[in-house]
Amino acid sequence: MLHCGVIERYREHLPVTESTHVISLNEGSTPLISAPNLSKAIHPRLDVWFKFEGLNPTGSFKDRGMTMAVTKALEEGFKAVICASTGNTSASASAYAARAGLKSVVLIPEGKIALGKLSQAMIHGAIVVQIKGNFDQALQLVRAITENHPIALVNSINPYRIEGQKTGAFEIVDDFDGRAPDFHVLPVGNAGNITAYWKGYREYNEAEKARNLPRMLGFQAAGAAPIVLGKPVKHPQTFATAIRIGNPASWAAAEKARDESGGLIDMVTDDEIRAAYKMMAATEGVFAEPASAAGIAGLIKVAQQGYFDDKEPFGGDRLRAVCILTGHGLKDPDSAIKAAEEPHTVEANEDAVLEAIGLCEPVTV
Ligand SMILES: *Cc1c(COP(=O)(O)O)cnc(C)c1O
Repeated sequence: MLHCGVIERYREHLPVTESTHVISLNEGSTPLISAPNLSKAIHPRLDVWFKFEGLNPTGSFKDRGMTMAVTKALEEGFKAVICASTGNTSASASAYAARAGLKSVVLIPEGKIALGKLSQAMIHGAIVVQIKGNFDQALQLVRAITENHPIALVNSINPYRIEGQKTGAFEIVDDFDGRAPDFHVLPVGNAGNITAYWKGYREYNEAEKARNLPRMLGFQAAGAAPIVLGKPVKHPQTFATAIRIGNPASWAAAEKARDESGGLIDMVTDDEIRAAYKMMAATEGVFAEPASAAGIAGLIKVAQQGYFDDKEPFGGDRLRAVCILTGHGLKDPDSAIKAAEEPHTVEANEDAVLEAIGLCEPVTV
């Protein structure tokens, strides 16, 4: 069967009509990957699964929302799209806009954007504007600009983004034959994704395609944890740049997802995120970007606090957690290189190589 994008796959659940011209890069249908080594390390009754959203066309989950947002921008007659971005939204918006023949403008925080993401926006032909400020200020600016100019705003406050992103929940439930996971784990930045997933699970449950609902477990970086602290953070800080956000646009909806699902939103330190980032790559062979690791770090944290000890699975005898790996590790090669060991540099001879890899004692004459 030819792979299609999320609008075609879930058309009946999305605001499109027969005549809608769909702009797609065949996003979605990303794999659920079991994480047996991590599961064993985290909790004896827990099966952890990764939904690897880094395998979307531009390397992050943002593509699910962008196919909808750009499709509707075109349908509504816009000639250009604009977004504020910590990186992945700009990569996705510029790619889908290019495909639709629309202009794209992206506002990013100067110097705080991962190299891969910036290169994407540039090569897709976006007008890239770096502001001397943070994401929250960039979002304020694009909101003001789109109030007075005919440019489509494609941040996740655009309801079509949420519509597209909810398809991630449909896919998980479909892969598990109608059972939602017991726990849905994800990083929280601007909080569009937690909002979208909760909407997707609820709609699938109402449509009787999902028999149960998950608890939503969201995690912010400790230096950018407004929802946990209960107030905006003026100068958010974290090496997980995709969630470096101090005043999330979907704050209230995220709290609703947390409370209605009986879940939680907690925070993890950069050290915890870094450890999870390396562990995922080294023990499961899956390379996701730092922000994605915040969810894993959170899962480890709450497991250590005994969170899972009194929980019962919906079906079977084991608990199931799905962690959304929101973006590909290759987006941010600098973070990987900083987090890992430096390569050995040796002379070009066999003895030197053997010594470097620990297979013999140094040769002495
Ligand atoms: C956008 C993004 C997030 C945060 O998602 P929100 O919807 O803003 O909460 C997390 N990780 C990555 C890789 C992202 O690109």
